[in-house]
Amino acid sequence: MFHVGTLQSKDLERIDLEHLWHPFTQYRLYSKFDCPLIVDSARGFELVDVDGKKYLDGVSSLWCNIHGHSDPELVEAIKSQCEKLCHSTLLGLAHVPILELTEELLKWTPSNLSRVFYADSGSTAVEASLRMAFEWWQKQNSPVARKKKRFASLVNAYHGDTLGALNVGFNELMHSSLKPLAVQSFTVPAPHVFRFFESMSAEDALEASLSVLNSLFDNHANEIAAFIIEPLVQGAAGMWIHPAEYLREVASLCKKHDVFLIADEVATGFGKTGEMFAVNCAGVLPDLLVLGKGLSGGYLPISAVAATEQIFNGFVAPVEDFKTFFYGQTFAGNPLAAHVAKVNLELFRKRDLLGKIKSNVEYFSSLLSDSLSTLKHVDEVRSFGFMVGIELTQGVGERKPYPPEALACWKVVRRARELGVVIRPLGNVLVLMPAVAMGREELKRLVEVTVEAIELELG
Ligand code: PMP
Repeated sequence: MFHVGTLQSKDLERIDLEHLWHPFTQYRLYSKFDCPLIVDSARGFELVDVDGKKYLDGVSSLWCNIHGHSDPELVEAIKSQCEKLCHSTLLGLAHVPILELTEELLKWTPSNLSRVFYADSGSTAVEASLRMAFEWWQKQNSPVARKKKRFASLVNAYHGDTLGALNVGFNELMHSSLKPLAVQSFTVPAPHVFRFFESMSAEDALEASLSVLNSLFDNHANEIAAFIIEPLVQGAAGMWIHPAEYLREVASLCKKHDVFLIADEVATGFGKTGEMFAVNCAGVLPDLLVLGKGLSGGYLPISAVAATEQIFNGFVAPVEDFKTFFYGQTFAGNPLAAHVAKVNLELFRKRDLLGKIKSNVEYFSSLLSDSLSTLKHVDEVRSFGFMVGIELTQGVGERKPYPPEALACWKVVRRARELGVVIRPLGNVLVLMPAVAMGREELKRLVEVTVEAIELELG
């Protein structure tokens, strides 16, 4: 039996099953079906469990790992910062790593953004962006401006787990018991052919979705403080992709109707689409850009909202006016996380990571379509950059989803794990999201094992 500190792996498993409460995890499934995988270490693109078994990390540790695990330069960054300053608050004080990070980050973000606010997770950064937009309007002198009290978002959006984020990402199945707490946003469907505009061509779906969008703005723009969007790829909804044209139209309507545009790039940011940010793919300038996950290379928790000077100035006033942005977490902008985030950004340049992912994206997407298109239970493979959703159905062409109790996706995930690859389910969608720096050999293994697991489980 493998030893980990004083506990053996069977003790760890017992503690896991008896005492740990996992996020987004149904205990019935976890304890009976999903054999626990207890990670002890990780190197490169592999996780190593307490028994020494290696697994390819096919979802970059929940979409955040960029360069691989235990990267010597990132580890050294944390160690060296540890010796100088582990934590100090940003409430009324600054520290060197956060200022260095801010300078570096603003070299990458859209040119209209000049202020960076830090938080400690994607959700708390989304929450900050919603409050910034909402309060900005409420702090205006004009009663017309103060009518802007609602948000707009896409159907099936996901923006995190705080109550504010829930309001712009409400899901009937998951959140019905929270309904009394929710102030739901206006929602519009993105042009997803197979989801909302079935049997239409992509062009017709785009036109139909733009017409819904236009009527939202025509009828309600005076009530809307901000439109929040996961640009180009709705990740947690199941990797649903909309065309750049749609995003551009959202941006242009926001501008025309005085609605702030919040780009939530917690999932799409830091190279995963092939560009540093998804908004770059469409040439869109958001008023607020929300970042998380890959900001620190996926090493430590830190998130950010990059804002325009216009929004920042809405909160600058004499103390007695109480226009201060009253929001911030204890560990927001932690120095260790900030320093590793700055080094992460430097490594993007030093290692030409965007060049590398661009050269691998085509290889990866043709590998996916060549290997998956002939499978009997794969109805659609959606991929954009390294963000992949594989839609499993009972029969190709029928679009008949497996019922939840069939556990179809879970079975594939479990089988892949037995074969040494970690991937994750989102309903009937299998998600792959390799680290941005992953090379062709590992990408090939990821796809091969996924195919084998689907075939073995579903036929
Ligand atoms: N926004 C988006 C688009 C996300 O995908 C996520 C997390 N997957 C979040 C916000 C929330 O981030 P976190 O889990 O760090 O709170």
